[in-house]
Amino acid sequence: MTGGITFTFGGVRINDRAQVMSTGWAPVAGLYACGEMVGGLFHGNYPGGTGLMSGAVFGRIAGAGAAGE
Ligand SMILES: Cc1cc2nc3c(=O)[nH]c(=O)nc-3n(C[C@H](O)[C@H](O)[C@H](O)COP(=O)(O)OP(=O)(O)OC[C@H]3O[C@@H](n4cnc5c(N)ncnc54)[C@H](O)[C@@H]3O)c2cc1C
Repeated sequence: MTGGITFTFGGVRINDRAQVMSTGWAPVAGLYACGEMVGGLFHGNYPGGTGLMSGAVFGRIAGAGAAGE
């Protein structure tokens, strides 16, 4: 038997454009996050597959934002 930590549920806050939010709730210019770096998506538990799904979805959004799309 061994314990496993899938993810911490913790991380930086982002908005729907994957921009990292400051403590004053304003987007930090030019700073994006996705995947394990992001907190607040899950509470208590999570549906199967959503760890990788959130990374893929917000990764696409963050990449597009960082590229200026
Ligand atoms: C045991 C386990 C089981 C899981 N099972 C599932 C599942 O069944 N379904 C699901 O959806 N999710 C699952 N997850 C969660 C999922 O794996 C993660 O949510 C996902 O992999 C996060 O992707 P990421 O790209 O954000 O981070 P990571 O996959 O952690 O990628 C980060 C990468 O950055 C690299 N890195 C770190 N520091 C540096 C540096 N300074 N310079 C360059 N590179 C660096 C690391 O080596 C790593 O390759 C599981 C996680 C664990 C631990």
